[in-house]
Amino acid sequence: MKSGCRSVICVVFMALVFASPALAEKGKLRERLTPAVMAVVHPGAERLGAEEGSPPAIAVYQGGKIVAYVFSTLDIVAALGYTATPFDAIAGVDLKGRITGAKVVFHNEPYILNDTRRERLLDTFLAREAGRPLRSSADMLPPDFVAGATVSARAMRAAVAASARLVLRARGAGGMVSVPTLDADSFNPMSWEELLATGAISRRRITSGEVATALAAAGASETTLDVPLGRPDDLYVEFMAGLFTPRAIGGNLLGLQSFEEYLRVMPFGAQVIFVAANGPYDFLDLKHRSADGRRFARLRVVQNGQAIDFERDGIRRLPTRPGGEGVRGQQHAALLALAPETGFDPLKPWRLELLVNGAGAAPVRVAFGLDYKIPDFHVLMPEPPPVAAWVEAWRDNRLNIAILAVLLSLLTLIFVFQATLVRFRLAHRLVRNAFLVVVLVWLGWTAGVQLSIVNAINYVRGPFSEVDIGFYLAEPLMVMVAIYTLVSVVLIGRGVFCGWLCPFGALQELLGQLSRALGVPQWQPSAQLEKRLRIGKYIAAAAVPALVITAIDPSAVSTEIEPFKTAIISKFTRAWPYVLYAGALLAIGLACERAYCRFLCPLGGVLAVLDRLHLIDLLKRRPECGNPCHLCERSCPVGAIETTGRIVTAECFQCLDCQVEYFDEARCPPLVRDAKLRGAGAPAPVTVGNA
Ligand code: SF4
Ligand code: SF4
Repeated sequence: MKSGCRSVICVVFMALVFASPALAEKGKLRERLTPAVMAVVHPGAERLGAEEGSPPAIAVYQGGKIVAYVFSTLDIVAALGYTATPFDAIAGVDLKGRITGAKVVFHNEPYILNDTRRERLLDTFLAREAGRPLRSSADMLPPDFVAGATVSARAMRAAVAASARLVLRARGAGGMVSVPTLDADSFNPMSWEELLATGAISRRRITSGEVATALAAAGASETTLDVPLGRPDDLYVEFMAGLFTPRAIGGNLLGLQSFEEYLRVMPFGAQVIFVAANGPYDFLDLKHRSADGRRFARLRVVQNGQAIDFERDGIRRLPTRPGGEGVRGQQHAALLALAPETGFDPLKPWRLELLVNGAGAAPVRVAFGLDYKIPDFHVLMPEPPPVAAWVEAWRDNRLNIAILAVLLSLLTLIFVFQATLVRFRLAHRLVRNAFLVVVLVWLGWTAGVQLSIVNAINYVRGPFSEVDIGFYLAEPLMVMVAIYTLVSVVLIGRGVFCGWLCPFGALQELLGQLSRALGVPQWQPSAQLEKRLRIGKYIAAAAVPALVITAIDPSAVSTEIEPFKTAIISKFTRAWPYVLYAGALLAIGLACERAYCRFLCPLGGVLAVLDRLHLIDLLKRRPECGNPCHLCERSCPVGAIETTGRIVTAECFQCLDCQVEYFDEARCPPLVRDAKLRGAGAPAPVTVGNA
C-alpha cells in the first residue's frame, strides 16, 4: 500500500473523530412512556401526573396518592454510552427509595445493537432492578450478565440509580439526604420492650437510699423534701425518656393517630421528648415551678453542657392508667417540647436531669441524670459517594485480571526467548497452539475479550469526547489487552496482537491447521493479487470508522464487517444471517490461511498502519534469504515474506514459523552448507536483521 494512500486514510480517520454522533431527543417524557415501557417501569399505575420539576419526573398515582416517580436518564444525567452517545433508560422509583423498574428505550451500544439475544439480556438485567433499594447492592445481577457489553450494562444501571437519587432528593422523598437527618417519617411496629431494648427509650431507677446519699454528698442531709424518703431500698422514682418526634418511636408509644394529634398541638418546629415515671416522686408536680412560674423545677435537659428548662406551654400530660400497656401503663407520663430557639439537636447525645429540691435554711438541688442518644436506626445518613464504576469493575474482576496478567507475561517471555523456542520445532508448535487455544476459549469465548475496531474508534475519540476516562477503564481485561497491543505494535509490530492475542485470529488459525491436517487443498494468491487483496483491510479501516462516527451509519451496522460479535462474543448464537457470514469467512480461511485477517479486517488494517512505527525487528534474516533461498518465504502461512526475502511486518503475524526454518540446521540451506563447511574448518554463518 502506497504511503500517500495511508496518509489520506489517517487524515480522514482523525477528521472523523470530531464528527458528532446521532442523538436521542431529550424532553417530552410522556410521549416515551408507552404502555410497553410503563408495564416494565411501573406496572399497575392508576394515573400519571404532569412532567414537572427539576430534575423532571412524572408522578405515579395509586389510590389518589403519589406512590412513585417515573423519569428518564437522558433528561437528568444524560449518561454517555460506549460510542459517546447518550442512551435513554426510563425508570421508576418509589417513595421508599426502591427502583420500580427500568428499561432502555434508546441506545447506540455497538455490542448490543442488532443482537436480539443480548438486547434481551440487557432488558432482563435492568428489569431485575425492580424492588431494589437504592441503598443496597444485594441481589444485583453482575454486569457480565450481559456478556460482551458489561460496560454498557454497568453504565445504564449507574445512570438509573443516580437519576433516581436526584429525583427523590429534589422532592424530599425516599430518605435521600445530604447530611445526617432525623428519620421523622419511617414507621414499623415495635413494642414498648423493643423500644427499650433498642435504646429508643432510656430508663433509670432511683431509690430513697440513692437520694439520701446524694443529699449527704451535697452537705444537705437535714434538708426537707416535698416527697419524703422511704427506706433505703424503696423506689423513690423510676423515670424513662426518649425522643418522641420520630414516627417510629412516637407512633409506637401512642399509636399513629394519637401521635399525629399530639404533634399538631406542640409548638411549631419543636422537638418533643417524652418522660414517664413511677414512684412517689412526681416530676410533673405543677406546684413546683421556677420563680417566674413558667419553668418546671423538677426536670431539665442538658446538651453540650447547656441546661434547657421546659416551658409550661410546651408540656402535655399523657393520660395513664394502672394496668395499661407501655407508656400508658406508667404512673406519670408527659410530652415536653424543646423549641427551635433552645438549640436542641435531636441527633446529639443529651441528658435528662431529674431534680430533687430540698428546702430549709440552705435550699439544695441534686440532679439524677438519664443519658440518651437517638439510636442510629432512626437517623438517615447521606449515602456514601458511589464507588466509581471502573473501580468496581477492577475489584469484581480480580481473578480474570490475574489470569490475563499471567497470560501476557507468558507471551512476553515467548518473545524474549523466541530465538531459543524456535530451535525446537515441536515445542514451538505445542506452545503456540496451546496459547491460541487459551486465547480462543478463555480470553474470547469465556471472558468475552475481543479487541475490535469499535474499541479502536472509542479510544481515539475518548480524549475529544465528554466521556470520562473511567468509562473506558470499566473494561479491565480489554484495557489490559489494548495497552499491551499498543506497546507491542510500537515495539515489535502488528503481529503480537494479530498472531497471538486475537481470539478470532486464533480460531481461524486453529481451523486452518485442522483443515490442512485433513488434506483440504490450500490456495495462496499470487504476489500481485495478494498485494491488491490486502488493500481491502485498509479500505475497511477507513470506511468503518467514517460510517460509524458520522451520522451516516448511526446504528453502527458497518462494524458487522467484523465477525467478532457473532463468532466470539455471542459464540454463534445470533440470527442466522450473522452466523452465515461468520461461517463463510471461517470456511474461506480453511482453504486460504487467515484470509479475513489479511484482506478484510478493519482492526487488522489499523494495526498494519501503526505497524509502520515499530522499533524492533525480531525476525532474523540471512543474506541468502530470497536469493537464492526461498524456504522461509514458502513456510510463511500468510505470504508476509516477499520473493526478495524481505519480511513485510505489517502483514506478519509473528507466528515464528519462518524462524523455526531459520534455525533448522537440517533444512535451512545456508546452515546445512555451513555445517558441512564447518566440518571442514570454515567460520560460523552470518545473521542479519529483517532487510
Ligand atoms: S487481522 Fe483482525 S481478525 Fe485477524 S488477528 Fe488481526 S485483529 Fe484479529
Ligand atoms: S512465517 Fe515469519 S514472516 Fe510469516 S507470519 Fe510467521 S513470523 Fe511472520
